[in-house]
Amino acid sequence: MRKTVTQQLLVTYSMDKEKDLPDNPGLVSLTIDTELDWPDSMRVALAYLASATSIFESIEKCNLFKGDIERYPNIDIISFISRWDRYLDKKADDWNILKYISASPKPVVKRPPFSICPRCEFLIWPRAMKRFSVGPDHLPEADSDWFERARQIYQEDPEPHYCLHCGQRFKYTDGLDYKASSSVQSIVSELGTMAKASQPTFEDITD
Ligand SMILES: [Zn+2]
Repeated sequence: MRKTVTQQLLVTYSMDKEKDLPDNPGLVSLTIDTELDWPDSMRVALAYLASATSIFESIEKCNLFKGDIERYPNIDIISFISRWDRYLDKKADDWNILKYISASPKPVVKRPPFSICPRCEFLIWPRAMKRFSVGPDHLPEADSDWFERARQIYQEDPEPHYCLHCGQRFKYTDGLDYKASSSVQSIVSELGTMAKASQPTFEDITD
């Protein structure tokens, strides 16, 4: 599945000098294939490293970086790293950067749909955790609606290949916490049961 992920880079500029200031300076958006571990998990990891490590000294420099990393699908990872290493690692250590972007797959933390990335702690199914407010009083929606939506979102993509925030790859065989005791199917039906169990009863409605 093709997706667009974004990462905000920090960039310094002065308003009076930068005439053609883009709407959102420093915003990088990558088109990635979520089914393809390599090289897209690496590109996501590189954008994450740049956002976490550096402040770009000018819009111009930042735009060069942006152009380089957004070039899809033709990005040569090795020359990209040597060109931009001082923005990707505090010591500009190419080997450190390579180790980071090619880290071995790790199990996700916590049971779905509450799981988070073991490296950056970003929610793996952020849409499933959204709770809408309803009605004129903006009360939180009923648990049943929320669980039901979480179930559908989880079921659409139960085993993402890698974190869309930091590029960490995930591991789903031997060792994945939630897989040890259950399957995707059992989590789906468990969420379905939770949705049903939290349907308001007749008494709740008439209260
Ligand atoms: Zn992550």
